Amino acid sequence: MQYLSTRGTTSSLSFTQAVLTGLAEDGGLLLPRAIPRIDRATFESWQDLSYSDLAFEIMSRFIDDIPNSDLKSLISDSYASFSHNEVTPLVHIDGIHILELFHGPTLAFKDIALQFLGNLFTYLLKRDDTFLNIIGATSGDTGSAAIHGVKGKERINIFILHPHNRISEVQEKQMTTVSDSNVFNIAVNGTFDDAQALVKGIFGDVEFKNSYHLGAINSINWARILAQVVYYVFSCLHISGHEKHRAAAFSVPTGNFGDIFAGYIAKKMLPEGCISKLILASNSNDILSRFVNSGDYSLGEVMSTSSPSMDIQAASNFERYLYYLMDCEPDLVREAMLKFSVDGKLYLQDYMSHIKRDFVASTISEEEVLETISRYHKEHHYILDPHTAVGIRAAEQHQDLGVPVICLATAHPAKFGATVEKATGTQAEVPPVLSDLEDRPTRCEIMDCDRNDIMAYIVQHGISKS
Ligand SMILES: *Cc1c(COP(=O)(O)O)cnc(C)c1O
Repeated sequence: MQYLSTRGTTSSLSFTQAVLTGLAEDGGLLLPRAIPRIDRATFESWQDLSYSDLAFEIMSRFIDDIPNSDLKSLISDSYASFSHNEVTPLVHIDGIHILELFHGPTLAFKDIALQFLGNLFTYLLKRDDTFLNIIGATSGDTGSAAIHGVKGKERINIFILHPHNRISEVQEKQMTTVSDSNVFNIAVNGTFDDAQALVKGIFGDVEFKNSYHLGAINSINWARILAQVVYYVFSCLHISGHEKHRAAAFSVPTGNFGDIFAGYIAKKMLPEGCISKLILASNSNDILSRFVNSGDYSLGEVMSTSSPSMDIQAASNFERYLYYLMDCEPDLVREAMLKFSVDGKLYLQDYMSHIKRDFVASTISEEEVLETISRYHKEHHYILDPHTAVGIRAAEQHQDLGVPVICLATAHPAKFGATVEKATGTQAEVPPVLSDLEDRPTRCEIMDCDRNDIMAYIVQHGISKS
């Protein structure tokens, strides 16, 4: 499978090149030349596959430059670290189906992609006898999932910047208690935006980037999207025996448009009607739900909410969807994205009928999040994390779809204890991976927002030859 840029001016890449490149050279995002189609007989033959075997069936259709036996072991190693044997179990509560994506090492759905990406990087670096220094900024979940994806791996060092004292205690501890010698936590005296700007600045120094083999792990990496396609297909197959020939809809709490875009790819791959609609659920940062409901994609101010991993305005994966919306015309995408970078807005009303074929959307307020968590606790004895609650509430507003709705549970409630306690008066049960965090020693460097200082730190602690 070849990979092309959404902006159309770079030559095509192999899967391996696409994974190691991240962003295309023309500033676009990479997409497979074609989406493989799965016919109904093949789809049904997958009914009894384990999660890892299904992941292999799906991923191998997008990857032709890794031998099958190697890909199989990469996949099964990646999902062996999950605490549930089905990896992503479906829980049924009074007509609502909850797809629990939080059984990985850091208790958020990002583990599903980042456990795989960590192993994939290690495999490719060994094959090509080279090394990587990963640099990223995090507001919480991505950093810890990335650290747990690469900790202890050869040929990779990881440097994660987080804003000092501005992330939750659990999130901070999940990163700073990792003791492997290839992990470097840097708490910067500043905000998340400051940390992000530092990382961008360092990547902008092309000579430094090339000599230190800087790598990114953010959500634009195609391998992350691909790994997430799997659980959409897995849950379609498992929604329940007698319902398997019917369609399902998915409700997806959305920030960067990564997870829901994986759902869109799954929808394109599977036989017509398997996935009838994707419900896009936003918190008060509503740029994406506004887009689906009215074609208005214009930046607002970022607001802090109880679902911080969705406190995002410009969604980094949106350009991938735009490419399909614009009938795979890279010239139109390039023009639209240049306009967006200047004006901070796009009006896409002309595409409404196309958008509505695949999506519906809701914006969920903070009060609604608390009310939903409280009600699920009282009526169903099930504790939702605030991100999941956004998706559940959105699903409740679209009961007219006429198909079962699968709601993605993107984080374990114990990660967001304060909001859960506010809504329910109790705490979620703390899983073993969090229970002894308090007592573990931490390792973190506190630094000022000074790009030269941070680059000097990377020079001192980074890998510089294989
Ligand atoms: C990252 C994240 C999201 C949003 O996912 P996107 O791919 O950015 O849309 C939702 N919930 C949780 C818990 C997350 O960590």
